[in-house]
Amino acid sequence: MPLHINTPLIESRPLSAVAERSVWLKMDALQPCGSFKIRGVGHACETHHRHGATHFVSSSGGNAGLAVAYAGRQLGIPVTVVVPKTTSERAKELLNLEGAEVIVHGDSWQEANELALTLMSPEKAFIHPFNDPLLWSGHASLIDEVAQAGQKPDVIVLSVGGGGLLCGIVEGLQRNGWHDVPVIAVETEGAASFHAAVVAGKPVELERIESIATSLGAKRICDQAFQYTNTHQIDSVVVTDQAALDACERFLFDHRVLVEPACGAALSLAYNHHSLVPYRKVLIVACGGATATLAQIRQWIVQP
Ligand SMILES: *Cc1c(COP(=O)(O)O)cnc(C)c1O
Repeated sequence: MPLHINTPLIESRPLSAVAERSVWLKMDALQPCGSFKIRGVGHACETHHRHGATHFVSSSGGNAGLAVAYAGRQLGIPVTVVVPKTTSERAKELLNLEGAEVIVHGDSWQEANELALTLMSPEKAFIHPFNDPLLWSGHASLIDEVAQAGQKPDVIVLSVGGGGLLCGIVEGLQRNGWHDVPVIAVETEGAASFHAAVVAGKPVELERIESIATSLGAKRICDQAFQYTNTHQIDSVVVTDQAALDACERFLFDHRVLVEPACGAALSLAYNHHSLVPYRKVLIVACGGATATLAQIRQWIVQP
């Protein structure tokens, strides 16, 4: 039994109406720890567990860390998550709820990550949030499920942070023979590291992250995500934080599910559908995000 669940695949009536075409949702917001991350993280953790790992270490204060904590609890393996001081109370509360040991260290992810790496030893496994082939093949299960349901879309819309989800989706498309299904990679302004790589012709590092969509806040995308632009049609779209927030609020109304702005970014393409014009049947990965709270989203909407 994998650690992730086969999530609902639904044709959204409200999003189809507003986008004037058939919009399908893969509802990974409903994964047990609130995001798609458990697909790849679960696969990586199970693989390390089979090879004898007795401890998992993560440096993510977001959904990747939560997925590691969840996987560890399910497999009976202790988990340590090192997070920077900027990590939200909500995220720490969720990590504690999963029984993980939480160490708060440093002002940035880089510093937390450095400490996490000093904790490593041969019997411990470090789980990276996006740059790991084990993660990608786990994320690819999302497309396996869509293929098993027999619902081939004309295009797939997803959010991009470090590019792990993108790599997993392209791997899934290719292993199911869906080479002809293009992908639209959505980011928010201020966190657009994939867009920057497309413009530069190679992965480049952003100076800083300036977006409220913290789950998209990787300064540089993984090399594999960029390499896939040579073998697969991947279009880059950048939206504003406000468009992502607006999508969160409308999606809560339309589907009664609260998601992070990181997911709102992808959903916003249905609410402002000019990027979807060439396509009749659109699949949006509703990637979710557990750290979203209604109070925080409302506060961001009022004071941008
Ligand atoms: C991690 C995450 C992303 C981005 O995924 P990457 O693999 O880093 O590109 C998008 N949305 C949510 C909710 C996430 O947790």
